[in-house]
Parts: sequence; C-alpha cells; structure tokens
Amino acid sequence: MKRREFLGAVSTAAAVLGLMPPIFSKDKARLVISLRSSIKTSPSKVKIDRIDLFPMRYPMTGYFKFFTGPHGSAGRAAVVVKITADDGTTGWGQSVPIAKWSYETLETATIVMHKYFAPVLIRHNPTDICGAHAEMDRALAPGFTTGMPISRAGIDLALHDLTGKLSGKTLAQMWNKPKGSPITLSWTVNVTSLDDIGSLMDLGKKRGYRYFNIKVAPDPKFDVALAKEVRRLSPESFLWADANGGYNTETALKAAPRLADAGVDVLEAPLRPNHISGYQALKKQGALPIFMDEGVISPTDLEEFIKLGMLDGVAMKPARCGGLISNKRQIELCQKHNLMWLGSGLTDPDIAMAATLGLYGAFGLKKPAALNGPQFLTADVLKKPLRIENGMAYVPDGPGLGIEVDEDRVIDLMKRSGGQKKIVS
Ligand SMILES: [Mg+2]
Repeated sequence: MKRREFLGAVSTAAAVLGLMPPIFSKDKARLVISLRSSIKTSPSKVKIDRIDLFPMRYPMTGYFKFFTGPHGSAGRAAVVVKITADDGTTGWGQSVPIAKWSYETLETATIVMHKYFAPVLIRHNPTDICGAHAEMDRALAPGFTTGMPISRAGIDLALHDLTGKLSGKTLAQMWNKPKGSPITLSWTVNVTSLDDIGSLMDLGKKRGYRYFNIKVAPDPKFDVALAKEVRRLSPESFLWADANGGYNTETALKAAPRLADAGVDVLEAPLRPNHISGYQALKKQGALPIFMDEGVISPTDLEEFIKLGMLDGVAMKPARCGGLISNKRQIELCQKHNLMWLGSGLTDPDIAMAATLGLYGAFGLKKPAALNGPQFLTADVLKKPLRIENGMAYVPDGPGLGIEVDEDRVIDLMKRSGGQKKIVS
C-alpha cells in the first residue's frame, strides 16, 4: 500500500470510529456516513425513546372462574407493551391483569404504565433493568410490597426483550444458563359440577396433556370428590390443588389431610397470604406440602415468609412478581433454602408465555407447569406462534424473548376489544 493510500485508509477508519471528522472527498464522506449508520450504538449508550401501550382482551374458550362476570367474560385482559430505543430496536412485553385474581385491571395497568412508569423510563438506558425498577419504585411507592406488580411486569418483559435484542442474547444466555428442555404443561380442571370432570379431562387428553391440576375451595367435600375423580382418571398425574386463598384456617386444616388421602400431591394457596399463623399451622401439620402463590411479590416477601416457616414451596409466575428479575431471584431463593418450586402463570397470552417459558427452561423446571394460556386463549399476536404440541411447550429461540410480534395483529386484536386505543408515551 502506498503512503497516500495508507493515510487515507487510516483517516477513514478514524472517522468511522468517531476519532476525526470526515473532512475528505465527497465519496469518502459518503462512505464514512454509510459505515457509521451500519455500526450499532453500544447497548450501554442506547436510550428509551418511546413506549407504546396496546390495551386489549384476548378471546377465550371454556370455563375458568377468574374470567367470569362483566369484565372477565369479555376476554383475558392484557396490555401489550412496545418499548422503542433511540437506535430503532424494539422490545415487547405484556401486562396481564386479572381483576378477580388481584386488584390490577386493564384500565389501571394502562394508566399506571402511561402516567407513572413511562415518564421516568423515557431516556433511561433499557439494558439497566434494575435501575428501571428503582425508577418505577420512586414513581409509584410500594405498599406492603412492590406496587402494581402485574402492570410493572409488562415493562420488565419488554426491557428484557430489548436488552436481549441489543446484545444478541436469549434470556438464558443473559443469565448464563442453558436454554433448557421443553416444558410439560398441566391441564387445569376447574368445574362447578362433578359431572363435568370426565369430559373436561378428555378434552385435555385429546390435545396430548397427561397431567392435571385442580382448582379447589371453598367446599372441602366437593374438593375431595374432585381430587378423587381426577386421580382415578389420571393415576400418573402430578395432582396439584390450588385453593387461591379460598379456605379459612380451620377449614384448610381439615381439608389438607383429606385432600392428601384423595391423592393430591401439593396444596397451593390454601389461605389468603396475610393469614400468617394459618400458613404456619398448615406447614406444621404436614399433611401436604404447602405452596404459596398470591402475596409472594418481591424477593424480600419470600425471604420473610421462609423465615416465618409458612411454606414448603412457591408456585412461580413472573407476572405476579413484577417480572423476570424478581421471579428469577425467587427461584434462586427456593434453591438456596431447599424449597420446591413449581411453574405457574396467569393464563398468560403469547408474549408473557414466551418470557415465562424462557425463565422456567433456563432454571430446569421439572414438574408439569400450570401454564394454561394455550388451554383457554384462542388468539395470538405473533408472526410465528409458540410451539406447543401434545401438552409440551418449547422454549423459544432467538434474542430477548425469542419471539416476533406482529404489530398489525396487535392492533387488530386491540380494535376488536371494545374500542381500546393505542397510547403513546
Ligand atoms: Mg395459584
């Protein structure tokens, strides 16, 4: 290379790296500009530019007690969250409120994200997810625990997706974990008549499900009959009974040994989470492993509940905990304290389901997961649907949550959801 050519190459490279201004010929200047635009901004320099919210309701099939009544019967509420960085990269998440499961609703989730979370997140570096949570804590103070965790989970998921896309890493790679095996799904048996058990289980079996979980409380007589029948029809099932806080302490103490005799393997959320002495009594009784779900929001909550001797395990769900960071820490706490953990969800639609699968896959979930979105929801918003076959859900591949959201389908589902409109921050 001649000296003049060498100096030209060096100065071009220097200009590309931003070390010198492009002061050469027009052709060289064009080359520099084009090379600059092809080099991605370092993830640490990227800022959140815009947050779009798409409130909607996913259409449903079948009976599930949380989706009844004037609001639930209109479908599964969800707010799809799209976070766009200033380099154009986008991350998708999803808040999944259920008014009959906790206090968050489609309306409050939307307004809290738009009016309280988005203003403190715009111009924030999206890869600083812990910092984003600290900002959200300042914008909406905690009560007993993290405020509006289900709403917040939508932001957390979108930040994980965006961070993964900026770094080219899957969730598992971001955590230095293996991707993990496909997740075995459990079919939810929630009936109001014992006569419906067989046909509902047949429906699950036809779709390849081999494991069943049941919804119990408040009537132990009904619950024991339900458990016996499900156990009879599925002798190999991991039989997981979730009371969703529906017993009082006295009833739960009577119900637990009878449910154990009927073939139940674990009892989840027998009481509301503030019945601390009741949980302690049930754990001490030892008739069944006692799991908590509702009320375990932040890792601090879980550490305290463990110290108080309230539980043998936790039914995980990122949506309940404010997202992946908090839920990942809770799985690690269970591992540290030799507690069991199960994979659960909030009837998650596709985007939230992808994140949940990524988490459970990375941490090697062993037992069938009560992820019943595929059982109850009849629409999705992905370009390529999640792979769910024969009662197995496959952990998505690809950066971030590993999915591609089809914005046209998001908008279409939103428009079909009773006049909901996109909100931009
Ligand atoms: Mg539960």
